[in-house]
Amino acid sequence: MTAQLVSYDPSNGEKVGEVTVTPTSDIDGIVAKARVAAKEWGALDINKRVELITKALAGIEPDSEKFAVLLSREMGKDLRRSSGEVRWVIKGGVGNAESARQALATRELAGGSLMQYRPLGVVAVIAPWNYPVAMANNLIIPALVAGNTVVFKPSEETPLIADAYVKKLNSVLPEGVLQIVHGDGQQGAALVESDVDMIAFTGSQATGKKIMERASGRLKRLVMELGGNDPLIIMADADLEHAAQFAVASSFENAGQMCIATERIYVDDSIADIFEKRVVEIASEYTVGPWDQQGVNIGPIINARQHEKIVAHIRDAEAKGAKVLLGGSDQPQRYIKPTVISDVTPEMLVETEETFGPVVAISRYSDIEEAIEKANHTNYGLGSVVFGGEGADKVADRLEAGMVGVNSGVGGGADAPWVGAKQSGFGFHGSADGHRQFAQVRVVSR
Ligand code: NAD
Repeated sequence: MTAQLVSYDPSNGEKVGEVTVTPTSDIDGIVAKARVAAKEWGALDINKRVELITKALAGIEPDSEKFAVLLSREMGKDLRRSSGEVRWVIKGGVGNAESARQALATRELAGGSLMQYRPLGVVAVIAPWNYPVAMANNLIIPALVAGNTVVFKPSEETPLIADAYVKKLNSVLPEGVLQIVHGDGQQGAALVESDVDMIAFTGSQATGKKIMERASGRLKRLVMELGGNDPLIIMADADLEHAAQFAVASSFENAGQMCIATERIYVDDSIADIFEKRVVEIASEYTVGPWDQQGVNIGPIINARQHEKIVAHIRDAEAKGAKVLLGGSDQPQRYIKPTVISDVTPEMLVETEETFGPVVAISRYSDIEEAIEKANHTNYGLGSVVFGGEGADKVADRLEAGMVGVNSGVGGGADAPWVGAKQSGFGFHGSADGHRQFAQVRVVSR
């Protein structure tokens, strides 16, 4: 009997729907089909590919509302956020297709040689659940524009929205160009080991390391966008209201389940009391609840394992002497109420690991050197933010991250790369440089 993958509403545990798990023994056949399709797809003119991809993405438009509701029911975020994600899939996808077309055009080098960007073949795209269609789309679109075919393995937490997305695109794309494999890490691992040429992955560091190991046999190409543990430094001359608003919003966005969520805050001693007071006031205005309840801005946590991890991090901080200013480790099922803790120290789990929940974790510093050292003292390097006056740019220069914010959040600029430093990434997507990583560079000397 074929196994079913059931998708549950994280706000109440009710079944939303189910899909059939792809037997791992089928994966080689799926990849073989993708390889056959890659011949024709890769040989099409890039303008034709972009035209088809743009038409396929536009096909989501009339069903955007349905897509957003399904995304909310399956993943838990409120409808406003889900609608935003669906809009981004269409608009950002079309923008990416256009910029990839330009980035991948053949260039003539000084001396007359030609620099070409050719398809790699078959790309496995493996995605997480927190932005289940946007993260996948960010990898699928440049892979397709470059002339590759794609086998997509969505997260086992969000198979339904992924399935709806693939079906919609496939009403326009030729057969075999985009296929889906359903299942968990087993299917992911089997896909990595199959006859694919590249793995484009967004997810945790732990999984990224396994993928790299398994991809090494055939030196498969890799683009990996991995976890973060983003610091936020608040200098004495920062705009305090702006900084406090940002600190809370960035820690709580998507119920804290965002790779670039603020995870650690270092605030100058001289303003720490007033900053903490204001953070607590702002955080108290957030409400938890299901996606369809008016005014909710923190949804449920995706599953019990993640919930337990967040509670364990808060409990660990409490046990090691942190002060709970709001919320704490006594939490209801399925949700984490807005939590603010202070007096965080370097050995606490909220400091050393990615908590991925709606927790504001604050520690104080007396010397900016100490704050920079603490911000950088980690294997993570996705985003890093500083709020401050004139000296903020100098501090920003020294932050070890792929994306840095000065009095602003990170990333998201038009055609900017989405990139992690250190163990938060390997390769990257977005921007001309990112799009080119989905292609084989070829130089023809004449
Ligand atoms: P995860 O690593 O547990 O799973 C991601 C995907 O990998 C899923 O589809 C999963 O089934 C699959 N997988 C699991 N084991 C595998 C294996 N051995 N081989 C191949 N595939 C395997 O991550 P998650 O819990 O779904 O997502 C949350 C993580 O993703 C967080 O760490 C977050 O920071 C990170 N993330 C990063 C970015 C970014 O752009 N840097 C964006 C979103 C999420």
